[in-house]
Amino acid sequence: MQGPSYSATELLARLVHFDTTSHRSNMPLVRFVEDYLAQHGIASQLVPSEDGAKASLYATIGPAAIAGVALSGHTDVVPVEGQTWSSDPFVLAERNGRLFGRGTADMKGFLACVLAAVPRYLQRKLAVPIHLAFSYDEEVGCLGVRPLIAELGGRFVRPRVVIVGEPTSMSVVDAHKGPVRWHVHITGRAAHSSMAPLGVNAIAVAGRLLAELARIEQELMAKPRDERFDPPYATLQATRIDGGTATNIVPVSCRLDFDVRALPGVDIAAIDRRLRDFAATECLPDMRKVAPEAGIDIAIANEVPPFASGSASEAVELALFLAGQNETYAVSYATEAGLFQAAGSPAVVVGPGDIAQAHTADEWIAEEQIDKCMAFLDRLGEWAERGAPVH
Ligand SMILES: [Zn+2]
Repeated sequence: MQGPSYSATELLARLVHFDTTSHRSNMPLVRFVEDYLAQHGIASQLVPSEDGAKASLYATIGPAAIAGVALSGHTDVVPVEGQTWSSDPFVLAERNGRLFGRGTADMKGFLACVLAAVPRYLQRKLAVPIHLAFSYDEEVGCLGVRPLIAELGGRFVRPRVVIVGEPTSMSVVDAHKGPVRWHVHITGRAAHSSMAPLGVNAIAVAGRLLAELARIEQELMAKPRDERFDPPYATLQATRIDGGTATNIVPVSCRLDFDVRALPGVDIAAIDRRLRDFAATECLPDMRKVAPEAGIDIAIANEVPPFASGSASEAVELALFLAGQNETYAVSYATEAGLFQAAGSPAVVVGPGDIAQAHTADEWIAEEQIDKCMAFLDRLGEWAERGAPVH
């Protein structure tokens, strides 16, 4: 079937025009992609969110029954609220070789290149299939891709290699940290501050937990370093605190959030256990002597696993071959690569655009990056047609 053929830049303009800020529906964009693929004779399969307002899209070019190479990216973008833009963030604007618009770098530029490559892939007789895996809600904790990953090995053939097209300036990234976020809620007992012994001060308990968190942070810093990362250790930071009612009331409640950026190999469960043990043995007995209803609720709100390809990864080998490079990098930002890797699909991160422009006002991608990505994807087509092992 001879469907329409557009340049990556034309497709990027279309994709940018959909306001897919994470809290909004991505369905108009998904319908556009579904329609575009249908015009090329490619069927899309959707993995909808529970409320049906969003969906991931999965599609295969080439022999569907064989494990192939998945090109993975998210359709959502971060908000523009509070940012000052020189032009409409949802209208692609070209200035001096740069394409401006929300999501140009992170990561509609990659999606546009993939869609532009589709007619080229169809002209080849692919021996190895190429899958498109477009997800949602990445920017709010890699949420949307998880139900899609759950279908791998079932409804969808588990890919042999997953290329995650987050902006790396087309460098090959084989490791990243994993962000884990905790919510802690401390419940004490309110009392007049002049009658302090009748109350349980939730803020004071938060202070004790903060001291324990600082000790854990020191221990993480003292662990063997991985100099490929900047900083070369796992960080732990209390990031939000909110408690108390009035200046003359012993606070009944305090909420505390903290965030760990884990290196590959850091034991998240051990950190969680450590804080729970501290709360149970060092805080709660004193609290409950005064107020049996007192409690400390500790919960992991979101966890994106760190990513390490391991040595001799076919995904990394293939990406280096396609990019014509021989060096890999580690980054501190997170992607869904760790989730794919954990699900049994070797992953690698390589995509157009610079992470420095992601999430900023006047986000842009260099046209030269789009060209580089198209060359990379063309080489993938050649390779998939040959069906040869990587070399
Ligand atoms: Zn992204």
